[in-house]
Amino acid sequence: MNERTQDQNAPDSPNRATMAPVSYGYCAWHLGYSADTRVINVQEQGSGPGGVQFACGPCREMYGLVPYADQP
Ligand SMILES: [Zn+2]
Repeated sequence: MNERTQDQNAPDSPNRATMAPVSYGYCAWHLGYSADTRVINVQEQGSGPGGVQFACGPCREMYGLVPYADQP
């Protein structure tokens, strides 16, 4: 038996199977979970619950949404 030592603080594992290649999240436009969601709006904390809104690919095209990261 060649037991591997448990490494709690493993360095970056690029081939980690648990990481999905796409971001899976809740689309705030069609009100459902979808893959390939992007952050569209980031609401500032203070007035309301705050948080972010995600939109999936089809909704971004349909509504002409610009991902937050791509906004000026
Ligand atoms: Zn959607």
